[in-house]
Amino acid sequence: MQSYVGVGVTPGRVVGPVRIMPPALSAPPSGERLPAADGSGTTPAEAAAASLKAAAAQVKAELQERAGRATGDGKAVLEATALMSTDPMLIKAAVKLINAGSSAQRAIWDAGNDVAAMLISLGGYMAERSHDVLDVRSRIVAALRGVPAPVIPDADVPFILVAEDLAPADTATLDPTKVIALVTAGGGPQSHTAIIARNLGLPAVVAAAGVLELADDDVVYVDGAGGTITTDPGEPELAAAAKWREQASLLSAFDGAGQLADGTRLDLLANVGGAKDAVAAAAANAQGVGLLRTEFCFLGHDTEPGHDEQVAAYKGVFDAFPGKKVVVRTLDAGADKPLPFLTDSTEPNPALGVRGYRTDTTSPGVLARQLAAIADAAGQASADVWVMAPMISTAAEAADFAALCGAAGLKTPGVMVEVPSAALTSRHLLDRVEFVSLGTNDLTQYAMAADRQLGPLATLNDPWQPAVLTLVQATVDGAAAQAAAAGNGAACKPVGVCGEAAADPALAVVLAGLGVSSLSMTARAIPAVSTVLRSVTPELARRLATRAVAAASATEARELVRAELPVLAELGL
Ligand code: PEP
Ligand code: MG
Repeated sequence: MQSYVGVGVTPGRVVGPVRIMPPALSAPPSGERLPAADGSGTTPAEAAAASLKAAAAQVKAELQERAGRATGDGKAVLEATALMSTDPMLIKAAVKLINAGSSAQRAIWDAGNDVAAMLISLGGYMAERSHDVLDVRSRIVAALRGVPAPVIPDADVPFILVAEDLAPADTATLDPTKVIALVTAGGGPQSHTAIIARNLGLPAVVAAAGVLELADDDVVYVDGAGGTITTDPGEPELAAAAKWREQASLLSAFDGAGQLADGTRLDLLANVGGAKDAVAAAAANAQGVGLLRTEFCFLGHDTEPGHDEQVAAYKGVFDAFPGKKVVVRTLDAGADKPLPFLTDSTEPNPALGVRGYRTDTTSPGVLARQLAAIADAAGQASADVWVMAPMISTAAEAADFAALCGAAGLKTPGVMVEVPSAALTSRHLLDRVEFVSLGTNDLTQYAMAADRQLGPLATLNDPWQPAVLTLVQATVDGAAAQAAAAGNGAACKPVGVCGEAAADPALAVVLAGLGVSSLSMTARAIPAVSTVLRSVTPELARRLATRAVAAASATEARELVRAELPVLAELGL
């Protein structure tokens, strides 16, 4: 028996076989050309086209073989992907590039991009197929290189996915009926792997050094709350997994009213990445959307999405929440979410670079056009649409953003508080906008100067860090100071939280005690957060918040709060 220790990001205890995600493929060098003709009978272009077709046929045969063993939806998906791998449009486009001198790998790479962009521009069902095209493209390049394809592996039985890290785009091919837990060697508690795991409600451990030495079919026990992975599980681990299944079934569905024990309201909203998530969040009774990550609607786009495509994407979300609040965040491109039409991939420090709102200086016009599309979509729906900008550092930026919103006819501008300077000057930001929303993921990485994607920095990247809680406190205090200065008994403007901290039921209690006005999280986390909040009085929440802020470390803060919330252990959280 061997144990690996990482950072637990989603609770849950499961036992199952491991599947290792092969490492990412590097893009073939851009402009990679065919070798010169060697005078033999076959031209380099003919040879490259033949090897491409052979690789595509190999991918198709593998997928068909797996489809033959699968059942239900899984079978249909595999059959459709198998057909896609020899799709005439894709192969013809690649052969055309080969005939123009591209190498086979580069040709299929570029052709895959072009076909995916075309499908995305068609929107709806066709846009969803773009992931399949990129998936088969990777498989064909891997076959040409003779290496395993960097795609979520498959198995006939539910499995525990072990990877270096996952990108937002990987979710598209992750089948939650097959994957029962996520374990990564890299990533931190605010990384996108963690966000994906919470969205899917999967137990997950990140930053677990050494886990990549596990092999396919090794059976392990994963404790998502404790952050451990144990090989050769025995009776106690099997019993713990069975108990978790029992406890998970005890959490009742959310009834649509976030509140503390005395009835004090605290709205529980959903974080969504598009219409599909929004429909699921509405079905889970979320009270609205606290964060629409619009960049998630356009990941993989090489060019700025057109007006109609944007309107359709936003309207799909608004329609899921008629009459309810939907907070749209403008494109937050950069760092781990690059959008080629906005960000420069050669920046030395992307997290500190031109990302989020800052891209308005390097790509002027994109933001104004996005706001126009949001306003158009809002005009066609009944949702109460609020708009906020990511990565705001100064009151001047907040004022400029509010002016752009006003010009687009959007009445409720706000900004995210993700940078310590914004937390410390929230009073001035709120003089210029109508609300702020704390992005604790980035606020933590910037407060602690620790890249949220790096596994070795995971313990620094912990929103329980008292420094981060102090910045949350400063933001709420700034809102109170702004209201007091405004006079006439003005109410505090809303200070929400939409970072992953809101999805941790114990931390949600602390945030409530610090005085935030709403919590936004993946819809899957709402029942647990709601259940725990309803068990605490405002006095207890305030007392725990004061003690957490005053703690000497993240561990001390977490432990002292958890010790006073026995409901967490009862629910296995
Ligand atoms: C955050 O930084 O907390 C946030 C919600 O934004 P994202 O995770 O998309 O960077
Ligand atoms: Mg952020």
